[in-house]
Amino acid sequence: MDLTHQPWNLSAEELAKLDQRYIWHPFTQMAAWCAEDHEPLVLASGKGARVTDVQGREYIDGNSSIWTNIHGHQHPKITAAMREQLDRMAHSSFLGLTHPNAAVLARELVTRAPGDKLTKVFFSDNGSTANEVSLRMALQFRAQREEDTRTQFVAFDQAYHGDTVGAANLSGIPLFTHPVAGPFPPVTRVADVDELLTLGPDFANTVNAAIIEPLVQGPAGIRPWPKGMLRRLADWCEEHGVLLILDEVLTGFGRTGTLFACEQENVVPDFLNLAKGITGGYLPLAVTLTTDQVFEAFLGGTDRTFYYGHSYTANPVGCAAALASLEVFDEEAVLENLQPKIAELSRALANLEGLLQIGEIRQCGFLAAIEVSGITPEGRELAETNQLGAAVCRQARDFGLLTRPIRNAVILMLPLCATNEEISAACAAIGQAVIRY
Ligand SMILES: *Cc1c(COP(=O)(O)O)cnc(C)c1O
Repeated sequence: MDLTHQPWNLSAEELAKLDQRYIWHPFTQMAAWCAEDHEPLVLASGKGARVTDVQGREYIDGNSSIWTNIHGHQHPKITAAMREQLDRMAHSSFLGLTHPNAAVLARELVTRAPGDKLTKVFFSDNGSTANEVSLRMALQFRAQREEDTRTQFVAFDQAYHGDTVGAANLSGIPLFTHPVAGPFPPVTRVADVDELLTLGPDFANTVNAAIIEPLVQGPAGIRPWPKGMLRRLADWCEEHGVLLILDEVLTGFGRTGTLFACEQENVVPDFLNLAKGITGGYLPLAVTLTTDQVFEAFLGGTDRTFYYGHSYTANPVGCAAALASLEVFDEEAVLENLQPKIAELSRALANLEGLLQIGEIRQCGFLAAIEVSGITPEGRELAETNQLGAAVCRQARDFGLLTRPIRNAVILMLPLCATNEEISAACAAIGQAVIRY
């Protein structure tokens, strides 16, 4: 049996049948997925900001392949760097060993990180683990410094930090976390910095670290924080000796208009957690950047070692992709070219404002969410069950846009390489979809 070629010789229908028989999908109600009338979309290839399904239909990749893709699919520079590394070795251990790509990538990340206190890079595989690493480092840091009173974490309502149990318990979206919600780590959740400030200095002295998605909460539905909020949080942390953890898993690598979101409020955290866009969206890789202060608390005997590390940590092909992606940022002046695209996105979103079916539109840099409101009687019913966004995204496929909703918000997050034409076509597709849903 030719297992390497078989997947490409099967029809869309045959592949869908196999999937529905054998696979359990993430963030997916499998009863609906496996229903008779559901036809799973089977993607075959991508090029630039577009993806193509096995039947040859092309779509604009409206959520950057679940928020990961930065420079487009099949960028020649990134695929070449990955091939070159594959010709040497696909994977090697990072436990007690190192390799060239990781060493250079770590230097590049430290060089590009804001400020000069983020000096050490700890590798892992995804956003959840990048956050989990900072959580465990913060816990062990306090223990080794015998700061026993700093027993809890500050996190924000509607935050999302990942799906592992620790990261989930730092999150504040009950729909996602209720099955594992538990007492560890101890968290005081606040709505905003104003509420945090009401808790007073006695409370502050009990806090280990505060964690936040800077500038904008992504999985809450692209909800920007008020200007200056991150700066105020950083000042509070500084004043009270609280560690600041920034979850830039989504916002990192240009999404908000700067390489890292925290640059916009001149904030340098104690932990900078990066994942999704780090490889340009090509392979799973993540890093937790931290300071000499944290690093040095772990030096000494084996009881001070940080016993954490996954099998595929710092995968060399992933590191090759990450290095190539940084090079593309430089060579193609990606951040400079992004500014006019952000303006184009604002213009294209403004065109949707008049439509009856559309509610609030939120934008932060190159990220956008379009709230859909039920105008028709059927629509209202859908709105109450939070299915309206999904219905609109389903319709948008017919107009050449592929994306996913969060509740009733259609998320629009294009790769940074998207052209002005693709930006306006994506917004127009949403307009056509809401009229028809
Ligand atoms: C996606 C995301 C995560 C989790 O990353 P995974 O790679 O999916 O584990 C954490 N925080 C934020 C803000 C995210 O958007």
